[in-house]
Amino acid sequence: MSFDDLGLEKRLLKAIKAMDYSRPTPIQERAIPPGLAGRDIVGCAQTGTGKTAAFILPILQRMGDNRGIKALVVTPTRELAVQIDEVARDCSRFTGQRVTAVYGGVGYGPQIKALRNGVDLLVATPGRLLDLNGRGDIDLGRVKMLVLDEADRMLDMGFWPDVRRIIRLLPGRRQNMLFSATMSRQVLGVIGSTLNNPARIDIAPSATPVEAIEQVVYPVGSRQKSELLAHLLKEKDLDRVLVFTRTRHRADRVCRTLGRQKIRSAAIHSGRTQSQRQAALDGFKSGRHRVLVATDIVARGIDVESISHVINFDVPNNPEDYVHRIGRTARAGAGGAALTFLSPEETGGLRDIEALIGTTIRCEDVEGFQYDYRVIPKPDRQARKVRKLVYNGGALSGRRRRPRLPSRSAGRMAKAR
Ligand code: AMP
Repeated sequence: MSFDDLGLEKRLLKAIKAMDYSRPTPIQERAIPPGLAGRDIVGCAQTGTGKTAAFILPILQRMGDNRGIKALVVTPTRELAVQIDEVARDCSRFTGQRVTAVYGGVGYGPQIKALRNGVDLLVATPGRLLDLNGRGDIDLGRVKMLVLDEADRMLDMGFWPDVRRIIRLLPGRRQNMLFSATMSRQVLGVIGSTLNNPARIDIAPSATPVEAIEQVVYPVGSRQKSELLAHLLKEKDLDRVLVFTRTRHRADRVCRTLGRQKIRSAAIHSGRTQSQRQAALDGFKSGRHRVLVATDIVARGIDVESISHVINFDVPNNPEDYVHRIGRTARAGAGGAALTFLSPEETGGLRDIEALIGTTIRCEDVEGFQYDYRVIPKPDRQARKVRKLVYNGGALSGRRRRPRLPSRSAGRMAKAR
């Protein structure tokens, strides 16, 4: 199928050509036609599948030319807001529609100015949107299309009450699109009240890139993790590397250690200002930094092409985060590898991950690395085969999600808004 078959108007097709998209991705193929028909959509898809264009293109085509904000995209993080804004600007290049993003962590002035100049499509993080609305700077009374992007992450970050408040500010008659990497009962809970007979599109399971990625676990004592990272970066052919740590503190520490070894790196986490985060991301994209060190909370939306390796410096607390982390590599069919440093305290976390992905990950020692002591994984480690949570059009099947405690980092994000 080509973009020409989807019912998109000429100016959008021209923009698609200018963006160099030759063929629609599966989510675009399946979401654009119902989106253009004005239907509500529930899409189960991760970042990296092309979902942004899948909702932006129908929005731009259906928007009409009344004054005011006609489409609203709500997304959990600033990075995602910036990325969606970029895609929307590229897509609207020949239509003249005005796109703006509002998000926390930066001054109000430029955002208020842009709003006053007129906006057709607004991309927003929940807190800043409500702030601006409370100050009377945003009129949401003309919104006829709403996208809730990364709904599961908004839930995890405690934004759901804000999202509900936002929904109450919108006109009742509108098209709704809900996108989420995973579908839990809570995420789906919004359907009953908000969505009207949605088209259901489930891209996540097949697109879960786990199979395409070479995965290795390196058991190592926690004190030697930094040393092992530096060793790999110096000795092995690791080109553009995304490193994940459990906390922002650890992210900064890893960066400092790499700096001492003359390895160019930058950190991206919720403790850094918006401009620091953007500078880190830009430096990584341009190749100035070989390594980007990130925490889970901001990493979800990182969309950087040709990441050769994802290194889990720490095993994530939440097994789903492992899938999101490693999905940053092997984009668009390119090869990629995910290396996980496993300290003895983290073996439980690894078992949870293996249960989620339904396979056992290969364990190896790094050749030429001087281990202080050897951490030998049990040879009989067996992955518990548990099906992934799948939304199959009605009931949920598969693994039960553990109730999550509100994380400290979610609290911090809430404050940072
Ligand atoms: P997303 O999942 O929306 O974050 O998109 C991930 C990446 O895929 C972005 O860099 C897009 O520019 C790119 N992309 C989206 N659709 C296509 C397409 N049809 N062909 C090639 N690249 C695409």
